[in-house]
Amino acid sequence: MKIFEENESVVRSYCRSFPAVFREARGAELISTEGTHYLDFLAGAGTLNYGHNHPVLKKALIDYIQEDGITHSLDLYTTAKERFIETFNRLILNPRSMGNYRMQFTGPTGANAVEAALKLARKITGRTNILSFTNGFHGCSIGALAATGNRHHRGGAGVPLSHVSRMPYANYFGEQVNTIAMMDKMLNDPSSGVDKPAAAIVEVVQGEGGLNTASADWMRKLEKLCRKHGMLLILDDIQAGCGRTGHFFSFEDMGIRPDIVTLSKSLSGFGLPLAIVLMKEDLDQWKAGEHNGTFRGNNHAFVTATAALEHFWSDDAFSRSVRGKSRLLSERLNRIVLRHGPHSLRVKGRGMMQGIACPDGETAEAVCTRAFENGLILETCGSNAEVVKCLSPLTITKEQIDRAMDTLEEAFSAVLSEPVSSRSS
Ligand SMILES: *Cc1c(COP(=O)(O)O)cnc(C)c1O
Repeated sequence: MKIFEENESVVRSYCRSFPAVFREARGAELISTEGTHYLDFLAGAGTLNYGHNHPVLKKALIDYIQEDGITHSLDLYTTAKERFIETFNRLILNPRSMGNYRMQFTGPTGANAVEAALKLARKITGRTNILSFTNGFHGCSIGALAATGNRHHRGGAGVPLSHVSRMPYANYFGEQVNTIAMMDKMLNDPSSGVDKPAAAIVEVVQGEGGLNTASADWMRKLEKLCRKHGMLLILDDIQAGCGRTGHFFSFEDMGIRPDIVTLSKSLSGFGLPLAIVLMKEDLDQWKAGEHNGTFRGNNHAFVTATAALEHFWSDDAFSRSVRGKSRLLSERLNRIVLRHGPHSLRVKGRGMMQGIACPDGETAEAVCTRAFENGLILETCGSNAEVVKCLSPLTITKEQIDRAMDTLEEAFSAVLSEPVSSRSS
């Protein structure tokens, strides 16, 4: 591990929580150079919904490379991109009555898709302000960071982060406070100090922000609010999309039609970088090359993304299995809370992005450390990193979920029975 500590910038982050060198990975398992097998409940922060090295995706990629398929092509037309577009339309957009969305291939990070979405909304409306929500996370480039809540990340900007008005997310003040009514009042009041926004950008489940969830009712009201005030609804589905909540899109059973949707993380299915912005046809008002980038359209990612769509999304068997596993996860997490902290712990999240909120960040970190010692990799999220977050591959078996939950339960039991003072070391 010395080589990393001596050479790699101190900006490195996740690796600090998991002091091991990883050598190979299969499905929901990561294997270290010591030969230790870990269950991966980090899953590339939601990038590995179909697990590590899924054999069907791997074969498609190897075959493509073997045949000298094109790797890099800027945004030239390629057969790999053609197949992806055709498959995404046929299996994802058309069955969900979303055939009227256009696809923009941005640079391959989520942040770049968010930048493109924000630029486009500002260009279309001629307004500069954006509404974003408390605890939202949208990426670390300046535009996306301005829309992000996290103080630690914002602190890295080095310039004032501007042109965003922060609004309270669903239930930010508890279930009694209607945050939509509050926003409506502020947007109606010419002297509220909130300039009319180009768009609101929102996550249905806040992945980094602490697994806070918005209800279908809140999302529908937000959509109405957007229409009323002439602002676009940007749905950032980078982490909650691609099946994580039990549907391809996190919003698809909510009866809403976002104007713009961003996808990245698990879109390629194999962990290869790929990001897209979906926009309603009439919103495709870019000039050619206006949002450019060298690595738009990663052909290898198109190949694995297409294979993933064919393999997992041709019928509803996969989404049904995800919903079944979500119920198991939910049961196990609730049992941990009931047994080890009915008054101090709380289950949060939805689908296969659930976790347990602890009283403080130290407790959550101690739980993750203990779990890692026993072969389970999982991270924290939330305002004070107080939420222990379960983000396993969706292809995980029920037996693996049970095993991971046994480990997690042991970790909660061990940490919560220790006196607080002996925990900090
Ligand atoms: C991870 C994430 C991003 C940023 O994606 P990067 O690839 O890290 O730039 C944006 N929005 C959400 C909701 C995310 O989870």
